[in-house]
This record gives sequence, C-alpha cells and structure tokens, in this order.
Amino acid sequence: MSKKKALITGITGQDGAYLAKFLIKKNYIVVGGERENRNNNRWRLEALNIKNKVKFVSFELMNENIINNEIKTGKYDEIYNLAAQSYVDKSFNNPIYTSDVNSLGVMRLLEAIREFSSNTKLYQASSSEMFGNVNSIQHNEETNFNPVSPYAVSKLYAHKMVEVYRNAYNLFCCSGILFNHTSPLRGNEFVTKKIIIDLIKIKLKIIPCLFLGNIHVKRDWGYSADYVEAMWKILQHKEPEDFVISTGVAHTVKDFINKVAIYLELDIKWKGKGLNEVAICNHTNEEIIKINKEFFRPNDIDTTFGNSFKAKKLLKWKPKTDFESLIKIMCDAEIKKFNDF
Ligand code: GDP
Repeated sequence: MSKKKALITGITGQDGAYLAKFLIKKNYIVVGGERENRNNNRWRLEALNIKNKVKFVSFELMNENIINNEIKTGKYDEIYNLAAQSYVDKSFNNPIYTSDVNSLGVMRLLEAIREFSSNTKLYQASSSEMFGNVNSIQHNEETNFNPVSPYAVSKLYAHKMVEVYRNAYNLFCCSGILFNHTSPLRGNEFVTKKIIIDLIKIKLKIIPCLFLGNIHVKRDWGYSADYVEAMWKILQHKEPEDFVISTGVAHTVKDFINKVAIYLELDIKWKGKGLNEVAICNHTNEEIIKINKEFFRPNDIDTTFGNSFKAKKLLKWKPKTDFESLIKIMCDAEIKKFNDF
C-alpha cells in the first residue's frame, strides 16, 4: 500500500510538531507548511528528533496563489490546518491580521480544496475560545457559541465555513474544538509555561518575582501529545464531523501555580485579594508572585471545560495524561534546562 501524504500547516508550533511525530510513526509522508524566512523556528521538530523526516514547503495562509499551487500539486490525502495567529491577547491589538489569517486563510484553503483537490480531507483547528462565557456547564458539540475576543470570532468564522463547505460541496472537512492544551513545547508566553519557567527561576534566585493577570479563571488543560491523536482520529472517522476534545476537568490558574510550587518544593502561602493578592515564600518571607493589571485581558472567559463524550464514543479517544502528570512532564522538561537545579 502506498504511503499516505499529509500537509501540516503551522508545523513549527506545539501541535504541529507533536502531530508530525505522530504521523511519521504511522508511516505518513509528512510535509510541513512554513512561512517564509522561518528556518530558525524548527526547534520543536529538533526537540522531537524529526526535523530531517519532514519535507518543508513555503506556505502562507494570506497568499491565495501559494495555497492554490500547493493544493494543486501536492496530492495530499490529508491536510491539518494548525497555522494561525494563536494568541488571544494579541488578537485585541491585531484584529485585522488575526481575521485575515484565522478566518480568510481557512476560506482560501477551503476554496483551493474545493477547486483543485476535492478528495483531500481537511482538519481545521477550532478552539474552545469560541464558546466564550456560556455559563459553567461542560461544553459539547451542541453548545451555543458566544465568542468574546477577536481571536474567538475569527476561529468561529472558520469553524462555520468548514461546516458550510462540508454540507454544500460534500467535502471531508472537519473541525476539532480543542480545549487548552499544553506541553514542554508550548510557547513561553502562555500561562502554564510562564508559571513553570518563572517559578524555577525564582527558586534559583535568578528573578525575584512572577507577575500574572487573572489567576481565578478556570481552564480545562490537556496534554498536546494526547490531543494530536484525536486530530488524526477525526480524519479517520467514516463521516466528516466536528468533535470537542478536552479532559472534562477544570482548574484555576491558581491551582496550577499551587501544584507547580509543590512539585518544585517552593513553600508558598497566599495573602490579599484582587490586584493585591500575593504569594509569599515561607522560607524567605518574600513576595514571589504578584498580580499585574498589564496581564489582564479586555475580555476573558471565566471558566471553560469540555465534554468529549462524542469523541470517546465514536473515535474511542480519551486523554491519557491527567493534570498532575502534565505538570510533572512540563516541570521535568524545564528543570533539565537549568544545570544547577
Ligand atoms: P489561552 O487560553 O489560549 O489564551 O492561553 P493562556 O495560557 O495565554 O491563558 C490562559 C488563561 O490564563 C487566560 O484566561 C489568561 O487571562 C490567564 N492568565 C492570567 N495571567 C496570565 C499571564 O500572565 N499570561 C497569560 N498568557 N495568561 C494569563
């Protein structure tokens, strides 16, 4: 049997790297779509030891010609669209760019598939951010969307277009509505990675303090390496459908901090409220975590947690890594980078 061929847009990101590794193991030919002049951005693929197993092509979601050429000539069995402007906070400062990449970019991709390669299956990375603040029930595929950021609106546009193209043109295109997922390969700006890196630095006395925004929001955090398997399973399912992918358990940012502190043997106690809330180190009596207005978003989601019953039932997918194990994996990976820990 000939090998399947997959294009991963956004291959240099966290999910792109884990998915590439997963598909290579499944004997796929993996092609990675990369924006031009981004050669120095392949550290995640290097970390997973797969950089030389991927063929790179120039790919830009804002460029219709590049997309059309690649889809016309690539003869892909599957395309995983993971490329995006993926920062919720930055989307408030760059709403036009965010929409161009995350909404119209997907539109360009759908059009190219419809016109030049209608047997190619498409996976679109949708996001739990699309749900916004819809009470605090577990969100599933039937839950109404109520996006509260330019990022979330841009993702919802793409999500709905995938549905339209699936129904109108009979294309095999699906969205995975993924809840927050993280890993050692997560960007350092995301809160999970920031907390771990800065608490290690505080323990080693490299920096005095960690500054955060709203630590009372609740998130459903899973492990990226588990979630990429769900992406693949979504495209192997007999019918093209959308799926919620989540752990079903929500924790506050503060819970995350407390668990990391315990793992790093940093003894902390909390004091104060609101912008005056601080964490004090019981050994040194110093304030090592403070709240800073700068890290609050103009609009944020209080609580997100998903219900992946459909994925469990139809795809036989469930997360393998729980919250504690995820923290251990991430802390161990960061600790390794500091010789004197
Ligand atoms: P996101 O959910 O994909 O935007 O992932 P993030 O890790 O960036 O943010 C998760 C949550 O943590 C959001 O509700 C943020 O408002 C909250 N948060 C609190 N403090 C910080 C911070 O200092 N940095 C970031 N990135 N998020 C923070």
